[in-house]
Amino acid sequence: MDKNLLDQIRRGIEGEVIETPETLTEYSHDASLFEVVPEVVVFPKNQEDVEKLVRIVKENIINFPNLSITGRSAGTDMSGGPLNDSIIVEFSKYFNHTPTIEGQTATTEPGVFYRDFEKETLAKGLLFPSYPASKSICAMGGIVNNNSGGEKSLKYGKTQNYVEKVKAVLSDGKTYEMKPLDQDALDSKMKQQDFEGEIYRKMFTLVRENKTLIENARPKVLKNSAGYNLWDVWNEKTGIFDLTKLWVGAQGTLGMMVSAEIGLVPVNKYREMVVIFLPDLTKLGEIINKILPFGPESFESYDDNTLKLALRFFPEFAKKLGVSGMIQAGIAFLPAFLMMFVGRLPKLILQVDFTGNSSEELKVKVDQLMKELEPLHLKTQIAIGDQEEKYWLIRRESFNLLRNKIRDKHTAPFIDDFVIDPQKIQIVIPQITDILAKHPEFIFTVAGHVGEGNFHIIPIVDIKNPAVREAIPKIADEVYKIITENGGSITGEHNDGLIRTPYLIQMFGVEMIKLFEEVKDIFDPQGIFNPRKKVHGDLKFAMEHIREKW
Ligand SMILES: Cc1cc2nc3c(=O)[nH]c(=O)nc-3n(C[C@H](O)[C@H](O)[C@H](O)COP(=O)(O)OP(=O)(O)OC[C@H]3O[C@@H](n4cnc5c(N)ncnc54)[C@H](O)[C@@H]3O)c2cc1C
Repeated sequence: MDKNLLDQIRRGIEGEVIETPETLTEYSHDASLFEVVPEVVVFPKNQEDVEKLVRIVKENIINFPNLSITGRSAGTDMSGGPLNDSIIVEFSKYFNHTPTIEGQTATTEPGVFYRDFEKETLAKGLLFPSYPASKSICAMGGIVNNNSGGEKSLKYGKTQNYVEKVKAVLSDGKTYEMKPLDQDALDSKMKQQDFEGEIYRKMFTLVRENKTLIENARPKVLKNSAGYNLWDVWNEKTGIFDLTKLWVGAQGTLGMMVSAEIGLVPVNKYREMVVIFLPDLTKLGEIINKILPFGPESFESYDDNTLKLALRFFPEFAKKLGVSGMIQAGIAFLPAFLMMFVGRLPKLILQVDFTGNSSEELKVKVDQLMKELEPLHLKTQIAIGDQEEKYWLIRRESFNLLRNKIRDKHTAPFIDDFVIDPQKIQIVIPQITDILAKHPEFIFTVAGHVGEGNFHIIPIVDIKNPAVREAIPKIADEVYKIITENGGSITGEHNDGLIRTPYLIQMFGVEMIKLFEEVKDIFDPQGIFNPRKKVHGDLKFAMEHIREKW
């Protein structure tokens, strides 16, 4: 980075400005497939630091057209969202004060790790129910800016349902608050003769004048993080206009978030789990139809490859359960070991979780479900105690285990998060696994939120192999074609980032892409925030930045 510009940043802010090779290497990665080396990493101490940094960038972009800023909280994104070749703004060092909770709302900074946030909410008997599977390693900044979802989203919906207010530094270098506004509040915002007034005027015009186009483009799936969420910004019937809906999931392309207010729900006391073992996918549609009306809190699945992996790395899995847990897990896993030995592992395992505040009510529900499933002659089990833990452990930890354990091979998330109508799973999933099967250098596991039709297919590859590198864009093209032709979403939770932004046009069409670009121009006319994400995707750039090694 230019020395004068770097000096200007150093003089301008209180926090650290670091450009050592170790730091740049550390921030060139997230949990995605990519490596993009930044020029500098800035650790702002406070809101004023973020404001000053944005102003410095804004003033210097004329002389340095590639200058930009990208926010980062815990860096566990799987899409390359927090990667950028200019300035990274790291929030987890200083924006990590203990959240405050009033009533059922928590106020949090972006750098607060979810595990710490949850400690505070659970102490009050409350929960943020849209936590992702990465709950032990990710932070609130990424959860909000990715519109994350997880195992409870089937019942509770995603992050966008819980964000009540967002405080953010926008491209004029000032901090603003976004929240739901009624017509009067919106009118007075639109009268303001400043940048904020201009944003409200332009955004209101954009959503009002394009309401049919926007409504028609609303993803017809149960979960979506693709594109800008324009379809929930303005509710014509109630008159509520809410820019938090646009912000959540915008991957930091509209500005830097410095805090958020987040709604919580009471924790349910009791739980019951039904596990179903399927020899093939033929009855899946029918099974889903029978289960969903019972209103499970989560309805998850994983395939035989995931189970095989769990068995192969059994000691690592069992370690997570502690000493007595290990012994119990040993007993609990024994039947699966035997099934693997005789080559009869189930093709797909479904786990259906119910929670509630009356254990009797739950038991009745489970009994009714079991009766409902009887005519299908399925192999089922009601999981209790350590068995429940076992199934959750495989479902939650499989990806992390894949990331860390297979020698010379690494997880390559690039078709990791698509969503389809659950009724189409049995047709679409085999089509996709057939594509992968044509590439023997790709080992893969399938796991996902089956109740929402949201699947995580994570191949494990030797990334140095030229055949693998060549195949990645080809497989991605084929898979996203199938998904979009089936009316699906290219991402339910993990968001667009470097990998999927180029495919937004397939999912939404040219006119919606133009609207997305207008939104970006309204908020960020100079294009200083997180380039190549959400708009102006660049597949060539992405493919040129696939990691060489781990
Ligand atoms: C093992 C594993 C499992 C996962 N499971 C799930 C899952 O179940 N569901 C799910 O949704 N995701 C999942 N993910 C992906 C990821 O962990 C989540 O999306 C998580 O919420 C990201 O949080 P983070 O703090 O690490 O975000 P980061 O990686 O730091 O950032 C994510 C995005 O938000 C932007 N951002 C971060 N902070 C700010 C800020 N202050 N202002 C503006 N923009 C900002 C970044 O630029 C980036 O685009 C998983 C990842 C892993 C490694």
